[in-house]
Amino acid sequence: MIVVMNPGAKKEQVDHVILRLTQLGFGIHLSEGESRTVIGAIGDRSKALSIGLEAMEGVEKVVPISKPFKLVSREFRKDDTVIELNGVRIGDEKVIVMAGPCAVESEEQVHQIAEAIKKAGADVLRGGAFKPRTSPYAFQGMEEEGLKLLAEAREKTGLLIVTEVVNPQCVPLVEKYADILQVGARNMQNFHLLRELGKTRKPVLLKRGLSATIEEWLMAAEYLMSGGNYNVILCERGIRTFETYTRNTLDLSAIPIVKELSHLPVIVDPSHGTGQRKLVSSMCKAAIAAGADGLMIEVHPDPERALCDGPQSLNPAQFMELMNGLRRVAVSVDRTL
Ligand code: PEP
Ligand code: MN
Repeated sequence: MIVVMNPGAKKEQVDHVILRLTQLGFGIHLSEGESRTVIGAIGDRSKALSIGLEAMEGVEKVVPISKPFKLVSREFRKDDTVIELNGVRIGDEKVIVMAGPCAVESEEQVHQIAEAIKKAGADVLRGGAFKPRTSPYAFQGMEEEGLKLLAEAREKTGLLIVTEVVNPQCVPLVEKYADILQVGARNMQNFHLLRELGKTRKPVLLKRGLSATIEEWLMAAEYLMSGGNYNVILCERGIRTFETYTRNTLDLSAIPIVKELSHLPVIVDPSHGTGQRKLVSSMCKAAIAAGADGLMIEVHPDPERALCDGPQSLNPAQFMELMNGLRRVAVSVDRTL
């Protein structure tokens, strides 16, 4: 449930409500909005009614949250969540672009791509150092060496770094280098990993599972938030359907649905969403028009020779051209890029 405080509620009144709820064993999550404070309380609601919560000083009302996801819901937080990282605001007016290779392959590759995407106006460099591959014989990533290369590229360009963390044991290592920790589609319901990431305060980019419903995806985000990490970014990356022409079916309708259900920022990955380079541009445009807060795009200096996901990767020139085209789309829906 949520306890909505009066607009002018004093800090002592908020603290008193929190104290009483804590004594009853509730988990407390505070949301301090522009106009009022809302206390999210996770626990047995009947207990709260027994202490006359609604009659306490400063309390305006007590409202149950009807959805299975609580902290993720718009009911808990009316305003959009904006995650600020080194001047980059994710979930705000500017559409954020994360770009880079599927996998970190070499120093030269990372530096070349970092320079190119920076020049084109991207905000975040992506690149997998740990690659969860369908085949055990495929390239599995450069691991810590790859993380170091990403960190060096950040030093040189000022770009933020997003990279995938594949298991709970790796969290401290990846956290040491990355600005944003990515949970891949195959790990969306790895609840041990989500619990571990709930303990950190670094932003987590949570990709939608290959066959996950929107509710399952939001419940995965609830794992992160219930652990106290409110810095969650959702990423639609396509789902499995009967269609075989594309690698996945990019569910663009998920954007307005999630924006209505949740306050969390939503970004779209048209590279994995389609699996085809030629479809990336139109899906980026559609994603922005549908209200996405950002994009994740695979870019490689030489896609033909990429160790991973070459067919869906753009080269730097194609990426530059894409960015220039997208700016106009962003402006047309009152966003920037
Ligand atoms: C990736 O972004 O590197 C990746 C593996 O994507 P996904 O988890 O969406 O398949
Ligand atoms: Mn990839």
